[in-house]
Amino acid sequence: MAERTFRLYDTLSRTVKPLVTVEPDHLRFYCCGPTVYSYAHIGNFRTFLTSDLIVRTAQAIGWRVSYVSNITDVGHLTQDDVADAAGDDKMAKALASKEGEQFANVWDLARHYSDIFEDAWRQLNLQAPTVRPRATEHMREQIIAVEDLIRKGNAYETPTGVYFSVDSFADYGKLSGNRDRENLQVAVRDVVQDDNKRNPADFALWKKDDKHLMQWFSPWGWGFPGWHIECSVMAQKYLGDTIDLHGGGEDLKFPHHECEIAQSEAGTGKPFCNHWIHVTFLQAEGEKMSKSKGNFYTVPDLLEQGYSALAIRMALISVPYAKPHNFTLQTLRDCQGHIERFQECDRRIAAAGSPEPAISEGHELAGLYEEALEAMLNDLNTSVALAKTLEGVKVILRQTTLAGDEAAAAVWFLDKVNHLLGIVRPLYVSLAEEAASGSDEIDGKAIDAWIEERQAAKKGKDFAKADAIRDKLIAAGVELRDTPQGVEWIRR
Ligand code: AMP
Ligand code: ZN
Repeated sequence: MAERTFRLYDTLSRTVKPLVTVEPDHLRFYCCGPTVYSYAHIGNFRTFLTSDLIVRTAQAIGWRVSYVSNITDVGHLTQDDVADAAGDDKMAKALASKEGEQFANVWDLARHYSDIFEDAWRQLNLQAPTVRPRATEHMREQIIAVEDLIRKGNAYETPTGVYFSVDSFADYGKLSGNRDRENLQVAVRDVVQDDNKRNPADFALWKKDDKHLMQWFSPWGWGFPGWHIECSVMAQKYLGDTIDLHGGGEDLKFPHHECEIAQSEAGTGKPFCNHWIHVTFLQAEGEKMSKSKGNFYTVPDLLEQGYSALAIRMALISVPYAKPHNFTLQTLRDCQGHIERFQECDRRIAAAGSPEPAISEGHELAGLYEEALEAMLNDLNTSVALAKTLEGVKVILRQTTLAGDEAAAAVWFLDKVNHLLGIVRPLYVSLAEEAASGSDEIDGKAIDAWIEERQAAKKGKDFAKADAIRDKLIAAGVELRDTPQGVEWIRR
């Protein structure tokens, strides 16, 4: 494949520039995941879909992608902008609420919401990340990182916790442009009022709290980590000291990502990340999403109302990630119509005997795919990419009977745009459908074959494939258990 350039806006340099990977043709990408104290809304998915499109676009030009997206299940405070020494964390607050009554404890609550989140992730055709680490499962690493920062003189202990000293890191503010120390004092999320702090803007790495619902023992007594340290630690653990790309919603620029940079670079002495991407917030029905306004849409709600997951996906990606996007049910209905046209293409392809994909040079559909890919490589211009896709669909449906080379070209085109944009066919339901349409469940032999393929993928260190197979089996109601005797499976 000819050398291609993937251009993306970079928050750090404030320019659209080529995404250059440290290792040739291997993208190492970290995207901050959800805080699992409640249902994720479709705004959160605008951010995760943007990451998914980055992964798919990189794959389309032949790159290997190591993609890490975490689950925040401890440490994210309720107070967005002001200090609150007594503030509890989002997880604990959710447990104490009315909705929280159904859970035995905070761990149970975290599992519940992260399972629902991962279901929606699969339904919207997002590829499985290479690793989906959880903050609570990386406590040792976080404690070691905090100890290291104290040793290096970038952090210090007080009676309430351990704080990162922003004055010890000259570049603090380089990402957000927020270098004004006076403003920092009022704008920092996660700041604790503690008179022993050297600078009020210093942020917490560890909070001492022996009453907290989620607590661990540390060199500073019982407590829990600050929110920011988990991402520094997990990004470095799975992707290395210097990563290629880091993303999240626009609210994470400051303080979260600014703090990640400070902790990571102070710790390693190396640049933490070379390219930063931030997604502009989704609005719904013209306003910020909120439960009281009735425009707080979740994926399960919309599915229940009869919209297809592919239509939801298409509606969410229809506006390029950096532009304001007002999600409306009308857009969703329009996308539903487009999805039905993809399905009509697939029906005609099936009627033509589902030929192997093939395309001749200079074919109109080859040109349209190339233009769609070019648009994605140009700072993820999804509106152009989708327009080219729909033009291709028009070309396919223009032929009343699809046959021969034209049918093979249609298969080629739909496969390609589906891999790039994920809007033509569901990734995960094939086994579930098999289960639903066959006798009554998937055949045990088929499951064994999938397990064998997953083991082979794991052996070959193709964890993305191994995870995708596990996810497919989960979607079909089959759960895998790794035991000393090998992999066992059960039907749920
Ligand atoms: P949270 O669960 O609040 O930690 O958010 C998970 C991710 O979704 C973060 O990257 C947020 O920045 C992002 N996010 C939150 N609200 C929106 C929104 N309305 N539009 C786009 N992204 C969002
Ligand atoms: Zn993060």
